[in-house]
Amino acid sequence: METEIIYAEDEDAGEAVVKASGLLQNGELVALPTETVYGLGANALDPDAVTKIFEAKERPSFDPLIIHLSRPEQLAEYCELSPRLHEVAHKLIQEFWPGPLTLVLPKKEIIPDIVTSGKNTVAVRMSAHPVMQEVCRAFGYPIAAPSANRFGRISPTTAAAVMAELSGKIPLIVDGGACNNGIESTIIRVEVDENDPEKRPELHLLRAGPVVKEDLQPFGKVIRPKKLSDRARKALLDKGEANDVEAPGMLESHYAPSTPLYIFDKPEDFVPEEGVSYALLSYRGQAKDGYMELHDWDVVEELSPGKGKLGEAAVRLFHLMRVLDESGADAIVAETVAETGLGVAINDRLRRASINK
Ligand code: AMP
Ligand code: MG
Repeated sequence: METEIIYAEDEDAGEAVVKASGLLQNGELVALPTETVYGLGANALDPDAVTKIFEAKERPSFDPLIIHLSRPEQLAEYCELSPRLHEVAHKLIQEFWPGPLTLVLPKKEIIPDIVTSGKNTVAVRMSAHPVMQEVCRAFGYPIAAPSANRFGRISPTTAAAVMAELSGKIPLIVDGGACNNGIESTIIRVEVDENDPEKRPELHLLRAGPVVKEDLQPFGKVIRPKKLSDRARKALLDKGEANDVEAPGMLESHYAPSTPLYIFDKPEDFVPEEGVSYALLSYRGQAKDGYMELHDWDVVEELSPGKGKLGEAAVRLFHLMRVLDESGADAIVAETVAETGLGVAINDRLRRASINK
């Protein structure tokens, strides 16, 4: 199959939207831009189309997908909402949609099991990217869209990165420019006490992302789920107990380059091996972070040169991981960033990309 790239900026958006929604209607896959990372879209109500996502990504069937809506009112069509849950969900939506917040809510029958990997909840969001919004509106049904990369690999933040991942496996990539958040959406499971409307809702933070803990706190108690090792997760899934696994796809190892990537608690823990060439993924490119002058690096890339703005670091993170993956270095060492706000999500991705943490 030949993969076509169509530009969707400015005057070309109309044609791209018509092509993309036509393919979705025919049960085909389309890579689409969102504000977080590029998504690999299919008709979420068509199990055969969704199967193609799992095949193209080589994604294990235990890892459920996020569905994208075109307007908040669609939530009630696809989620089973008690009056209290409806109220809490809509407060969150009002604040954060369209945007990078995914809500995990009880699903309605109409959502096929393959989308949710057999779980009785579904993950929903509404993207702020104008091209994604137009495609969602033109298509009319929810679009299942996980990141447009092969399973376990680095998420794509440009159309070229999607091409590198999925060329020949999908018919169309809609190029809407580089993603302006750069890391995947924040995911929360919303839980309310039906018997006690005064009780604060529980927001279980399943994946750290651009909407940070501090943003969520006014809407409920933010709870981090217990850590589950990959082995314990697999044991539960093998027993068919998908509902006991909070975030099935959040494996300890994920978002990883092919080149081994290392992170350390402190710079002194890095002991270079003889004959190995190392690349450095630096936070600010500054000696004071401890790594720049520690070694004669083959290549250095900086997430946010100078001041170290976390927003900029997030946008550049996956792109620079790809650059270093292709730099020819034998190994990559990454500096972590300040563990506050967006830094939590950046460090989370670095940890999962690393082979030693
Ligand atoms: P991706 O589509 O690659 O951004 O990943 C989506 C992630 O959302 C999955 O890896 C899951 O961890 C999470 N997710 C999707 N659906 C659910 C659900 N019903 N319950 C809990 N987590 C979910
Ligand atoms: Mg992904």
